[in-house]
Amino acid sequence: CGIVGYVGSQTASDRPLDVVLEGLRRLEYRGYDSAGVALVGPDGELDTAKKAGKLANLVEELDAHPLAEATAAIGHTRWATHGGPTDVNAHPHVSGRLALIHNGIVENFATLKAELLAEGVEFESETDTEVAAHLVSRAYDRTGDLTKAVTEVARTLHGTFTLLAVHADAPDVVVGARHDSPLVVGLGEGENFLGSDVAAFIAHTREALELGQDQVVTITPTAVTVTDFDGKPADARRYTVDWDAAA
Ligand code: GLU
Repeated sequence: CGIVGYVGSQTASDRPLDVVLEGLRRLEYRGYDSAGVALVGPDGELDTAKKAGKLANLVEELDAHPLAEATAAIGHTRWATHGGPTDVNAHPHVSGRLALIHNGIVENFATLKAELLAEGVEFESETDTEVAAHLVSRAYDRTGDLTKAVTEVARTLHGTFTLLAVHADAPDVVVGARHDSPLVVGLGEGENFLGSDVAAFIAHTREALELGQDQVVTITPTAVTVTDFDGKPADARRYTVDWDAAA
């Protein structure tokens, strides 16, 4: 299972999707049962595609129904823990204008889901992850700030997670958070990357930041901001990836 995130220039192009699919290919060795992507564009579009089975199934779907050009993208390969390996249970999970991907397990999803159901939220999938999508979407509607929304929700989730979120109102931002699950930033020029492992972006940059436990990262085309789960500035370890994997 793997996670890739990308944000580039303000101009929509094919690059976000290309980078994310390339990253997912390089993470295939980890094993997975489904794959999906979400793209956001400068005019407030949010587009997703997801398919059970091999990455080739997702690519076939994208060939048949191409997505619009974009400025940011997230991509996911799933290893199902809650809910079978179906198209609907594949990530991203969408809530309103937000899309979210997750590796790991939300241990307290049943409690959170019951609360959301009681408030009239409708669920599409059987995953533990979908609660996080609805919670971040609701927190965004309240705060208008994707970093704040992800940070707030990260504090309430138990279990293990690497999660990434994009919102159609913030087409030049990808936000990630981690707890007991890895997340690495790839530093580019006028673009930045996120990955569950450096293989996700090694074709594009070797300059990396390794997030620490319980950190949130916000990437834009020109900035990377790291905070803890209280929203306070935090340090991540910077290094240069030195293994020869770019071939
Ligand atoms: N627990 C989540 C699910 O079953 C994520 C699994 C994963 O790590 O890919 O959908």
